[in-house]
Amino acid sequence: MGISVTPIPGLSPQINDIRRRTAEIINNEILPNEQALWRFRRGAELTADERETSRRESHELREQIKAKVFEAGLWAPHLPQEYGGAGLDFLELAYMYEILAYGVGASSLFGIAAPNSGNASVLVKYGTEEQKKKWLLPLIAGDMESGFSMTEPDNAGSDPRSIQTEAVRDGDDWVINGHKWFTSNGINANFFIVMCRVNDPSGEYVANGRMTQIIVPTDTAGVNIVRGIGIFGHSNSDHCEIRYENVRVPIENTLGLVGQGHQAAQDRLGAGRVYHCMNSIGQMWRAFDLMVERSLVREVHGGLLKDKQFIQGFIAESYMDLQSARLMTINAAEKVANGDPDARTAISAIKVFVPAAYHRVVDRAIQVWGGAGVSNDLPLSQMYLTARVLRIADGPDEVHKILIAKNILHRYEGGKGWNFGT
Ligand SMILES: Cc1cc2nc3c(=O)[nH]c(=O)nc-3n(C[C@H](O)[C@H](O)[C@H](O)COP(=O)(O)OP(=O)(O)OC[C@H]3O[C@@H](n4cnc5c(N)ncnc54)[C@H](O)[C@@H]3O)c2cc1C
Repeated sequence: MGISVTPIPGLSPQINDIRRRTAEIINNEILPNEQALWRFRRGAELTADERETSRRESHELREQIKAKVFEAGLWAPHLPQEYGGAGLDFLELAYMYEILAYGVGASSLFGIAAPNSGNASVLVKYGTEEQKKKWLLPLIAGDMESGFSMTEPDNAGSDPRSIQTEAVRDGDDWVINGHKWFTSNGINANFFIVMCRVNDPSGEYVANGRMTQIIVPTDTAGVNIVRGIGIFGHSNSDHCEIRYENVRVPIENTLGLVGQGHQAAQDRLGAGRVYHCMNSIGQMWRAFDLMVERSLVREVHGGLLKDKQFIQGFIAESYMDLQSARLMTINAAEKVANGDPDARTAISAIKVFVPAAYHRVVDRAIQVWGGAGVSNDLPLSQMYLTARVLRIADGPDEVHKILIAKNILHRYEGGKGWNFGT
Protein backbone atom coordinates (compact mmCIF):
# COMPACT_ATOMS: atom_id res chain seq x y z
CA MET A 1 0.00 0.00 0.00
CA GLY A 2 2.84 2.41 0.81
CA ILE A 3 3.10 5.26 3.27
CA SER A 4 0.17 7.70 3.29
CA VAL A 5 1.54 11.23 3.21
CA THR A 6 -0.54 14.36 2.94
CA PRO A 7 0.56 17.93 3.73
CA ILE A 8 0.69 18.60 7.49
CA PRO A 9 -1.14 21.83 8.30
CA GLY A 10 1.14 24.30 10.02
CA LEU A 11 4.34 22.94 8.49
CA SER A 12 6.17 24.97 5.89
CA PRO A 13 5.42 24.20 2.22
CA GLN A 14 9.13 23.29 1.91
CA ILE A 15 8.91 20.51 4.55
CA ASN A 16 5.66 19.20 3.11
CA ASP A 17 7.20 19.14 -0.33
CA ILE A 18 10.28 17.23 0.92
CA ARG A 19 7.98 14.70 2.58
CA ARG A 20 5.90 14.29 -0.59
CA ARG A 21 8.95 13.81 -2.81
CA THR A 22 10.53 11.34 -0.36
CA ALA A 23 7.28 9.36 -0.15
CA GLU A 24 7.07 9.19 -3.95
CA ILE A 25 10.47 7.51 -4.14
CA ILE A 26 9.71 5.20 -1.20
CA ASN A 27 6.32 4.15 -2.57
CA ASN A 28 7.14 3.98 -6.29
CA GLU A 29 10.78 2.93 -6.41
CA ILE A 30 11.76 1.23 -3.18
CA LEU A 31 8.81 -0.72 -1.75
CA PRO A 32 7.91 -2.50 -5.01
CA ASN A 33 11.58 -3.51 -5.40
CA GLU A 34 12.38 -4.33 -1.80
CA GLN A 35 13.13 -8.00 -2.37
CA ALA A 36 15.27 -7.33 -5.43
CA LEU A 37 17.17 -4.45 -3.86
CA TRP A 38 18.59 -6.54 -1.07
CA ARG A 39 17.90 -9.98 -2.56
CA PHE A 40 21.28 -11.47 -1.74
CA ARG A 41 20.58 -10.97 1.96
CA ARG A 42 17.39 -13.01 1.89
CA GLY A 43 19.10 -16.37 2.29
CA ALA A 44 17.83 -18.08 -0.88
CA GLU A 45 19.80 -21.17 -1.92
CA LEU A 46 21.88 -19.77 -4.77
CA THR A 47 24.91 -21.04 -6.62
CA ALA A 48 27.98 -18.81 -6.59
CA ASP A 49 27.14 -17.56 -10.13
CA GLU A 50 23.49 -16.89 -9.26
CA ARG A 51 24.60 -15.08 -6.17
CA GLU A 52 26.97 -12.90 -8.16
CA THR A 53 24.27 -12.11 -10.76
CA SER A 54 21.80 -11.32 -8.02
CA ARG A 55 24.34 -9.06 -6.30
CA ARG A 56 25.06 -7.25 -9.58
CA GLU A 57 21.37 -6.77 -10.39
CA SER A 58 20.69 -5.46 -6.89
CA HIS A 59 23.63 -3.08 -7.23
CA GLU A 60 22.38 -1.78 -10.61
CA LEU A 61 18.89 -1.26 -9.23
CA ARG A 62 20.27 0.63 -6.25
CA GLU A 63 22.32 2.88 -8.54
CA GLN A 64 19.19 3.64 -10.64
CA ILE A 65 17.26 4.62 -7.54
CA LYS A 66 20.15 6.75 -6.26
CA ALA A 67 20.08 8.62 -9.59
CA LYS A 68 16.37 9.35 -9.05
CA VAL A 69 17.12 10.56 -5.52
CA PHE A 70 19.74 12.93 -6.98
CA GLU A 71 17.25 14.17 -9.58
CA ALA A 72 14.70 14.84 -6.86
CA GLY A 73 17.31 16.95 -5.00
CA LEU A 74 17.17 14.67 -1.95
CA TRP A 75 20.69 13.19 -1.97
CA ALA A 76 22.63 13.51 1.32
CA PRO A 77 19.96 15.74 2.87
CA HIS A 78 21.98 16.13 6.08
CA LEU A 79 24.93 17.81 4.36
CA PRO A 80 25.30 21.42 3.22
CA GLN A 81 24.81 22.10 -0.48
CA GLU A 82 28.46 23.13 -0.89
CA TYR A 83 29.37 19.51 -0.13
CA GLY A 84 26.87 18.06 -2.55
CA GLY A 85 24.06 17.59 -0.05
CA ALA A 86 20.49 18.91 -0.05
CA GLY A 87 21.27 21.25 2.87
CA LEU A 88 18.11 20.57 4.88
CA ASP A 89 17.78 22.16 8.29
CA PHE A 90 17.18 20.24 11.51
CA LEU A 91 13.36 20.12 11.40
CA GLU A 92 13.23 19.44 7.68
CA LEU A 93 15.51 16.47 8.23
CA ALA A 94 13.55 15.15 11.20
CA TYR A 95 10.29 15.26 9.25
CA MET A 96 11.92 13.67 6.22
CA TYR A 97 13.47 10.81 8.19
CA GLU A 98 10.16 9.36 9.36
CA ILE A 99 9.09 8.97 5.73
CA LEU A 100 12.45 7.64 4.65
CA ALA A 101 12.58 5.03 7.41
CA TYR A 102 9.32 3.50 6.18
CA GLY A 103 11.48 1.76 3.56
CA VAL A 104 13.90 -0.37 5.56
CA GLY A 105 17.41 0.24 4.18
CA ALA A 106 16.20 3.17 2.04
CA SER A 107 18.41 5.71 3.79
CA SER A 108 21.51 4.22 2.17
CA LEU A 109 19.94 5.04 -1.23
CA PHE A 110 19.63 8.66 -0.10
CA GLY A 111 23.31 8.90 0.93
CA ILE A 112 22.72 8.63 4.66
CA ALA A 113 24.21 5.39 5.85
CA ALA A 114 25.42 5.30 9.48
CA PRO A 115 28.10 5.74 10.68
CA ASN A 116 29.32 7.58 7.54
CA SER A 117 26.57 10.21 7.78
CA GLY A 118 27.41 11.09 11.40
CA ASN A 119 31.12 11.18 10.61
CA ALA A 120 30.48 13.42 7.61
CA SER A 121 28.52 15.87 9.77
CA VAL A 122 31.34 15.93 12.35
CA LEU A 123 33.90 16.53 9.58
CA VAL A 124 31.77 19.37 8.17
CA LYS A 125 31.65 21.03 11.59
CA TYR A 126 35.11 20.32 12.99
CA GLY A 127 37.32 19.36 10.02
CA THR A 128 40.08 21.56 8.57
CA GLU A 129 39.96 22.31 4.84
CA GLU A 130 42.71 19.72 4.35
CA GLN A 131 40.78 17.05 6.31
CA LYS A 132 37.63 17.82 4.35
CA LYS A 133 39.44 17.32 1.07
CA LYS A 134 41.10 14.13 2.22
CA TRP A 135 38.26 12.43 4.13
CA LEU A 136 34.95 14.21 3.78
CA LEU A 137 34.68 14.56 0.01
CA PRO A 138 35.53 10.90 -0.73
CA LEU A 139 33.11 9.87 2.04
CA ILE A 140 30.29 11.85 0.45
CA ALA A 141 31.18 10.56 -3.01
CA GLY A 142 30.91 6.99 -1.68
CA ASP A 143 34.59 6.35 -2.47
CA MET A 144 35.41 5.84 1.20
CA GLU A 145 33.82 4.19 4.23
CA SER A 146 34.32 5.12 7.87
CA GLY A 147 33.69 4.11 11.47
CA PHE A 148 33.34 5.85 14.83
CA SER A 149 35.48 4.16 17.46
CA MET A 150 34.58 5.17 20.99
CA THR A 151 33.28 2.27 23.09
CA GLU A 152 35.80 0.10 24.94
CA PRO A 153 35.31 -3.42 26.34
CA ASP A 154 37.02 -2.65 29.64
CA ASN A 155 35.19 0.60 30.40
CA ALA A 156 31.55 1.61 30.63
CA GLY A 157 30.35 2.94 27.28
CA SER A 158 27.44 4.48 29.14
CA ASP A 159 29.97 6.76 30.86
CA PRO A 160 32.12 8.14 28.03
CA ARG A 161 34.39 9.87 30.57
CA SER A 162 35.74 6.42 31.44
CA ILE A 163 37.51 5.85 28.12
CA GLN A 164 41.20 5.02 28.38
CA THR A 165 42.52 4.83 24.84
CA GLU A 166 45.52 7.12 24.92
CA ALA A 167 47.17 9.28 22.27
CA VAL A 168 50.63 10.36 23.34
CA ARG A 169 52.33 13.13 21.43
CA ASP A 170 55.67 12.21 19.93
CA GLY A 171 57.09 15.08 17.83
CA ASP A 172 54.61 15.76 15.02
CA ASP A 173 52.67 12.54 15.61
CA TRP A 174 50.17 11.02 17.97
CA VAL A 175 50.92 7.47 19.06
CA ILE A 176 47.67 5.72 19.94
CA ASN A 177 47.20 2.69 22.17
CA GLY A 178 43.85 1.32 23.20
CA HIS A 179 41.22 -1.37 22.91
CA LYS A 180 37.82 -0.60 21.36
CA TRP A 181 34.85 -2.64 20.38
CA PHE A 182 31.52 -2.26 18.60
CA THR A 183 33.10 0.03 16.01
CA SER A 184 30.37 -0.34 13.38
CA ASN A 185 31.30 -0.62 9.70
CA GLY A 186 34.77 -1.60 10.90
CA ILE A 187 35.38 -4.21 8.20
CA ASN A 188 34.87 -1.86 5.24
CA ALA A 189 36.07 1.40 6.77
CA ASN A 190 38.96 3.33 5.23
CA PHE A 191 39.29 5.47 8.34
CA PHE A 192 38.06 5.63 11.90
CA ILE A 193 37.34 8.63 14.04
CA VAL A 194 38.87 7.41 17.29
CA MET A 195 38.01 8.91 20.66
CA CYS A 196 41.21 9.22 22.68
CA ARG A 197 42.61 10.86 25.76
CA VAL A 198 45.62 12.93 24.82
CA ASN A 199 48.87 13.14 26.65
CA ASP A 200 51.48 15.63 25.54
CA PRO A 201 54.76 15.37 27.45
CA SER A 202 56.03 18.46 25.54
CA GLY A 203 53.36 20.46 27.33
CA GLU A 204 51.94 22.32 24.31
CA TYR A 205 48.49 20.87 24.91
CA VAL A 206 48.52 21.73 28.58
CA ALA A 207 45.35 19.96 29.52
CA ASN A 208 46.51 16.38 29.32
CA GLY A 209 43.97 13.61 29.53
CA ARG A 210 41.32 15.56 27.64
CA MET A 211 39.09 13.78 25.19
CA THR A 212 39.99 14.32 21.58
CA GLN A 213 38.90 12.79 18.28
CA ILE A 214 41.65 11.65 15.96
CA ILE A 215 41.29 10.45 12.38
CA VAL A 216 43.03 7.11 11.89
CA PRO A 217 43.32 5.53 8.42
CA THR A 218 42.55 1.85 8.83
CA ASP A 219 45.64 0.77 6.89
CA THR A 220 47.94 2.40 9.46
CA ALA A 221 50.35 -0.07 11.07
CA GLY A 222 49.03 -1.17 14.46
CA VAL A 223 45.29 -0.93 13.65
CA ASN A 224 44.42 -4.52 14.40
CA ILE A 225 40.86 -5.65 13.78
CA VAL A 226 40.44 -8.57 16.13
CA ARG A 227 37.00 -9.66 14.90
CA GLY A 228 33.58 -8.65 13.71
CA ILE A 229 31.60 -9.33 16.89
CA GLY A 230 28.86 -11.91 16.44
CA ILE A 231 25.53 -10.50 17.61
CA PHE A 232 22.05 -11.98 18.05
CA GLY A 233 23.27 -15.47 17.23
CA HIS A 234 24.98 -14.53 13.95
CA SER A 235 28.58 -15.66 13.84
CA ASN A 236 29.97 -12.25 12.90
CA SER A 237 29.06 -8.68 12.03
CA ASP A 238 30.74 -5.47 10.96
CA HIS A 239 30.68 -4.19 14.57
CA CYS A 240 34.38 -4.65 15.21
CA GLU A 241 36.69 -5.22 18.11
CA ILE A 242 39.90 -3.32 17.43
CA ARG A 243 43.26 -3.04 19.14
CA TYR A 244 45.19 0.13 18.46
CA GLU A 245 48.82 -0.81 19.10
CA ASN A 246 51.37 2.00 18.75
CA VAL A 247 49.35 3.51 15.92
CA ARG A 248 51.20 6.57 14.64
CA VAL A 249 49.28 9.34 12.86
CA PRO A 250 50.25 12.99 12.25
CA ILE A 251 49.06 15.67 14.68
CA GLU A 252 47.11 17.25 11.80
CA ASN A 253 44.73 14.27 12.01
CA THR A 254 43.32 15.81 15.22
CA LEU A 255 39.65 16.49 14.48
CA GLY A 256 38.66 19.77 16.10
CA LEU A 257 40.63 21.11 19.02
CA VAL A 258 42.32 19.00 21.66
CA GLY A 259 39.71 18.55 24.39
CA GLN A 260 36.74 19.04 22.05
CA GLY A 261 36.11 15.33 21.65
CA HIS A 262 33.36 15.05 24.23
CA GLN A 263 31.50 18.06 22.81
CA ALA A 264 31.82 16.69 19.27
CA ALA A 265 30.40 13.36 20.42
CA GLN A 266 27.51 15.14 22.12
CA ASP A 267 26.81 17.15 18.94
CA ARG A 268 26.70 13.93 17.02
CA LEU A 269 24.51 12.11 19.51
CA GLY A 270 22.19 14.94 20.55
CA ALA A 271 20.68 15.71 17.15
CA GLY A 272 21.25 12.10 16.18
CA ARG A 273 18.90 10.89 18.90
CA VAL A 274 16.02 12.92 17.45
CA TYR A 275 16.80 11.51 14.02
CA HIS A 276 17.02 7.95 15.39
CA CYS A 277 13.60 8.43 16.97
CA MET A 278 12.06 9.78 13.75
CA ASN A 279 13.59 6.76 12.00
CA SER A 280 12.04 4.48 14.60
CA ILE A 281 8.68 6.13 14.04
CA GLY A 282 8.91 5.59 10.27
CA GLN A 283 9.64 1.93 10.93
CA MET A 284 6.84 1.64 13.49
CA TRP A 285 4.53 3.14 10.88
CA ARG A 286 5.60 0.46 8.42
CA ALA A 287 5.19 -2.31 11.02
CA PHE A 288 1.78 -0.91 11.92
CA ASP A 289 0.65 -0.88 8.26
CA LEU A 290 1.92 -4.43 7.79
CA MET A 291 0.04 -5.57 10.89
CA VAL A 292 -3.26 -3.94 9.98
CA GLU A 293 -3.10 -4.98 6.33
CA ARG A 294 -2.45 -8.59 7.33
CA SER A 295 -5.34 -8.59 9.74
CA LEU A 296 -7.69 -7.65 6.89
CA VAL A 297 -6.91 -10.74 4.81
CA ARG A 298 -5.66 -13.55 7.06
CA GLU A 299 -8.27 -16.11 8.04
CA VAL A 300 -7.79 -18.11 11.23
CA HIS A 301 -10.27 -20.30 13.04
CA GLY A 302 -13.12 -19.39 10.77
CA GLY A 303 -12.69 -15.63 10.72
CA LEU A 304 -10.45 -12.80 9.70
CA LEU A 305 -7.82 -11.65 12.17
CA LYS A 306 -9.31 -8.16 12.12
CA ASP A 307 -12.45 -9.50 13.80
CA LYS A 308 -10.61 -11.04 16.76
CA GLN A 309 -10.52 -8.87 19.84
CA PHE A 310 -6.93 -9.82 20.70
CA ILE A 311 -5.86 -8.41 17.34
CA GLN A 312 -8.02 -5.31 17.71
CA GLY A 313 -6.23 -4.79 21.02
CA PHE A 314 -2.84 -5.01 19.24
CA ILE A 315 -3.99 -2.45 16.69
CA ALA A 316 -5.34 -0.02 19.27
CA GLU A 317 -2.29 -0.31 21.53
CA SER A 318 0.04 0.12 18.59
CA TYR A 319 -1.85 3.19 17.43
CA MET A 320 -1.43 4.71 20.90
CA ASP A 321 2.28 3.80 21.02
CA LEU A 322 2.95 5.26 17.61
CA GLN A 323 0.94 8.41 18.12
CA SER A 324 2.43 9.19 21.54
CA ALA A 325 6.00 8.40 20.41
CA ARG A 326 5.57 10.61 17.36
CA LEU A 327 4.11 13.58 19.19
CA MET A 328 6.80 13.38 21.88
CA THR A 329 9.51 13.28 19.25
CA ILE A 330 8.12 16.20 17.28
CA ASN A 331 7.87 18.18 20.50
CA ALA A 332 11.51 17.36 21.31
CA ALA A 333 12.58 18.28 17.77
CA GLU A 334 10.82 21.65 18.04
CA LYS A 335 12.51 22.30 21.38
CA VAL A 336 15.91 21.59 19.79
CA ALA A 337 15.09 23.81 16.80
CA ASN A 338 13.96 26.65 19.08
CA GLY A 339 16.99 26.40 21.36
CA ASP A 340 14.71 25.57 24.32
CA PRO A 341 16.82 24.78 27.43
CA ASP A 342 14.50 21.84 28.20
CA ALA A 343 15.43 20.17 24.92
CA ARG A 344 18.01 17.97 26.67
CA THR A 345 15.35 16.48 28.97
CA ALA A 346 12.98 15.99 26.03
CA ILE A 347 15.69 14.21 24.01
CA SER A 348 16.43 11.80 26.85
CA ALA A 349 12.71 11.14 27.26
CA ILE A 350 12.25 10.16 23.62
CA LYS A 351 15.48 8.18 23.66
CA VAL A 352 13.87 5.95 26.32
CA PHE A 353 10.24 6.02 25.23
CA VAL A 354 10.47 5.65 21.46
CA PRO A 355 12.67 2.54 21.17
CA ALA A 356 10.47 0.80 23.76
CA ALA A 357 7.30 1.77 21.87
CA TYR A 358 8.95 0.72 18.59
CA HIS A 359 9.83 -2.63 20.18
CA ARG A 360 6.22 -3.18 21.32
CA VAL A 361 4.70 -2.28 17.93
CA VAL A 362 7.08 -4.51 15.97
CA ASP A 363 6.56 -7.30 18.48
CA ARG A 364 2.78 -7.18 17.91
CA ALA A 365 3.21 -7.01 14.12
CA ILE A 366 5.42 -10.12 14.26
CA GLN A 367 2.80 -11.88 16.36
CA VAL A 368 0.05 -11.06 13.85
CA TRP A 369 2.15 -12.38 10.97
CA GLY A 370 3.04 -15.59 12.82
CA GLY A 371 6.03 -17.47 11.36
CA ALA A 372 6.31 -15.08 8.43
CA GLY A 373 6.89 -12.33 10.97
CA VAL A 374 10.28 -13.68 11.96
CA SER A 375 11.30 -14.64 8.40
CA ASN A 376 13.60 -12.58 6.21
CA ASP A 377 10.71 -12.16 3.73
CA LEU A 378 9.47 -9.24 5.81
CA PRO A 379 11.48 -6.41 7.37
CA LEU A 380 9.97 -7.05 10.83
CA SER A 381 12.70 -9.28 12.26
CA GLN A 382 15.37 -6.76 11.30
CA MET A 383 13.30 -3.99 12.91
CA TYR A 384 12.92 -6.04 16.07
CA LEU A 385 16.68 -6.35 16.49
CA THR A 386 17.19 -2.67 15.69
CA ALA A 387 14.65 -1.67 18.31
CA ARG A 388 16.41 -3.78 20.93
CA VAL A 389 19.83 -2.33 20.16
CA LEU A 390 18.46 1.22 20.36
CA ARG A 391 17.72 0.73 24.05
CA ILE A 392 21.48 0.35 24.61
CA ALA A 393 23.26 2.40 21.93
CA ASP A 394 23.63 6.19 22.25
CA GLY A 395 23.16 5.92 25.99
CA PRO A 396 21.25 3.08 27.63
CA ASP A 397 17.77 3.73 29.04
CA GLU A 398 18.94 4.01 32.65
CA VAL A 399 21.40 6.83 31.92
CA HIS A 400 18.69 8.87 30.21
CA LYS A 401 16.18 8.25 32.99
CA ILE A 402 18.74 9.48 35.51
CA LEU A 403 19.24 12.66 33.48
CA ILE A 404 15.48 13.28 33.17
CA ALA A 405 14.96 12.87 36.90
CA LYS A 406 17.99 15.02 37.72
CA ASN A 407 16.73 17.91 35.57
CA ILE A 408 13.22 17.70 36.99
CA LEU A 409 14.39 17.48 40.60
CA HIS A 410 16.74 20.41 40.07
CA ARG A 411 13.81 22.51 38.84
CA TYR A 412 11.68 21.66 41.88
CA GLU A 413 14.58 22.13 44.28
CA GLY A 414 14.92 25.62 42.81
CA GLY A 415 11.34 26.33 43.82
CA LYS A 416 9.75 25.95 40.38
CA GLY A 417 7.52 23.30 38.87
CA TRP A 418 7.82 21.62 35.48
CA ASN A 419 5.98 23.40 32.70
CA PHE A 420 4.36 20.78 30.48
CA GLY A 421 2.78 23.50 28.36
CA THR A 422 5.79 24.06 26.14
C1 LIG B 1 24.92 -2.96 17.45
C2 LIG B 1 25.75 -1.96 18.17
C3 LIG B 1 26.46 -1.01 17.43
C4 LIG B 1 27.29 -0.10 18.10
N1 LIG B 1 28.03 0.79 17.36
C5 LIG B 1 28.95 1.55 17.97
C6 LIG B 1 29.86 2.36 17.21
O1 LIG B 1 29.80 2.42 15.98
N2 LIG B 1 30.83 3.04 17.87
C7 LIG B 1 30.95 3.00 19.22
O2 LIG B 1 31.85 3.65 19.75
N3 LIG B 1 30.09 2.26 19.98
C8 LIG B 1 29.10 1.54 19.39
N4 LIG B 1 28.26 0.74 20.14
C9 LIG B 1 28.44 0.68 21.59
C10 LIG B 1 27.33 1.36 22.38
O3 LIG B 1 27.39 2.75 22.19
C11 LIG B 1 27.51 0.91 23.83
O4 LIG B 1 27.19 -0.46 23.90
C12 LIG B 1 26.62 1.71 24.80
O5 LIG B 1 27.10 3.04 24.91
C13 LIG B 1 26.64 1.08 26.20
O6 LIG B 1 27.93 0.91 26.68
P1 LIG B 1 28.40 -0.54 27.23
O7 LIG B 1 28.05 -1.57 26.23
O8 LIG B 1 29.82 -0.42 27.64
O9 LIG B 1 27.49 -0.82 28.49
P2 LIG B 1 27.80 -0.39 30.00
O10 LIG B 1 28.26 1.04 30.05
O11 LIG B 1 28.65 -1.42 30.64
O12 LIG B 1 26.35 -0.44 30.62
C14 LIG B 1 25.70 -1.72 30.80
C15 LIG B 1 24.33 -1.48 31.40
O13 LIG B 1 24.47 -0.89 32.67
C16 LIG B 1 23.30 -0.17 32.95
N5 LIG B 1 23.69 1.15 33.45
C17 LIG B 1 24.63 1.99 32.95
N6 LIG B 1 24.71 3.09 33.71
C18 LIG B 1 23.83 2.95 34.72
C19 LIG B 1 23.47 3.75 35.84
N7 LIG B 1 24.05 4.93 36.06
N8 LIG B 1 22.51 3.27 36.67
C20 LIG B 1 21.92 2.08 36.46
N9 LIG B 1 22.23 1.28 35.41
C21 LIG B 1 23.16 1.72 34.57
C22 LIG B 1 22.48 -0.07 31.68
O14 LIG B 1 21.39 -0.98 31.75
C23 LIG B 1 23.47 -0.50 30.61
O15 LIG B 1 22.83 -1.12 29.50
C24 LIG B 1 27.38 -0.13 19.51
C25 LIG B 1 26.62 -1.07 20.24
C26 LIG B 1 25.83 -1.97 19.58
C27 LIG B 1 25.06 -2.98 20.39
